[in-house]
Amino acid sequence: MYTLNDFNFKNKKALIRVDFNVPINDAFEVTDATRINSGKPTIIKILEDGGSCILMSHLGRPKGKQEEFSLKHIVNTVEDVLGVEVLFVNDCIGVEAEKAAKNLQSGQILLLENLRFHKEEEQGDKAFAKSLSQLGDIYVNDAFGTAHRAHASTTIIAQFFEGRKCFGKLLAKEIESIDKVMQTGEKPVTAILGGAKVSSKITIIDNILDKIDHLIIGGGMTFTFIKAQGGSIGNSLVEDDKLELAGEILKKADAKNVKIHLPVDAVIADAFSNDANIKICKINEITDGWMGLDIGPNTEVLFADIVSISKTILWNGPLGVFEMPNFANGTISLGHAIAKVTEKGAFSLVGGGDSVAAVKQFGFEDKVSYVSTGGGAMLESLEGKTLPGIAAILN
Ligand code: AMP
Repeated sequence: MYTLNDFNFKNKKALIRVDFNVPINDAFEVTDATRINSGKPTIIKILEDGGSCILMSHLGRPKGKQEEFSLKHIVNTVEDVLGVEVLFVNDCIGVEAEKAAKNLQSGQILLLENLRFHKEEEQGDKAFAKSLSQLGDIYVNDAFGTAHRAHASTTIIAQFFEGRKCFGKLLAKEIESIDKVMQTGEKPVTAILGGAKVSSKITIIDNILDKIDHLIIGGGMTFTFIKAQGGSIGNSLVEDDKLELAGEILKKADAKNVKIHLPVDAVIADAFSNDANIKICKINEITDGWMGLDIGPNTEVLFADIVSISKTILWNGPLGVFEMPNFANGTISLGHAIAKVTEKGAFSLVGGGDSVAAVKQFGFEDKVSYVSTGGGAMLESLEGKTLPGIAAILN
């Protein structure tokens, strides 16, 4: 795996694919600079080595050139985060971009205009990628959030940098963290899958069963498994066309010696609302008119026990409807359990969509080993797919 340490950036122009796709409000202010912060270590390292940085990113989903998606709106924030002046050029290819790149001195940063102002970016157009490639000496991919896309700046461009391409610090860390769970993780390895539907996690389950010792299942998908086992689930979320599949997963796990842990009790409600009436009952005894919206207290203890004996943990998906305070306890208690075992030396990776939001919301972000920055890319990695952006650097 080629990283920044494999190159000497002195007097070199690093062409860096970053993910500065940050949220922006109506006044064109950046409302969350997390992604810019995540890209900082790579940029600073290259500057400290005596190189210069040409940053390329997309922002939003513009249809052609649309002012509101201009990266000029983020220049001030990037400067604040990096503590270095940032030059901006209002196109990512062409004469002006080439001139700005050519004039760039060591220690300077140039931000290019939104890549997606050119439809060729998402089309993975080779000529467009070649034009981009002419701006820099070494290509650095540090954008995990788009590593699962074969776009011009994330994948196609790499072919023009034979022997001159590498991962940035952020992307290297993402790859390392996934490897720690999927390949080199110390046993017992425990995966916790929650979220709404089993259908969206099937490929992940299939792929990870060979790599884990325990699989904890929570969230809405629980009820497809419980119904498959003959339990009563009332009005809980269920995918009736996946009952057979759920049964097969249980058998497959058994054959592979993976212990599956399903909830034993649930917090049930008589409506999908934080103001609904609430009761606790056994997971397989939910009566009609009631639905399971969180794991129950006995399950919290059961899951915490499994987590406490784990050395490697992967968490994807909340255990209940955590957006409503009355159904957030299961997700919070799991967060506590993971934080505790992480403190004792276990490795914990939180990745993919809503569990990342939950971890941030409940303040566990700094108490787990790593929180992934890429939703779709993370899910595809867990499904066992080789991400094109990663393959392009490795090839
Ligand atoms: P996913 O994107 O598949 O990870 O699903 C995340 C969503 O699952 C969150 O918005 C949760 O509110 C939802 N969820 C978790 N548990 C349940 C449940 N028991 N019933 C319905 N939705 C749930």
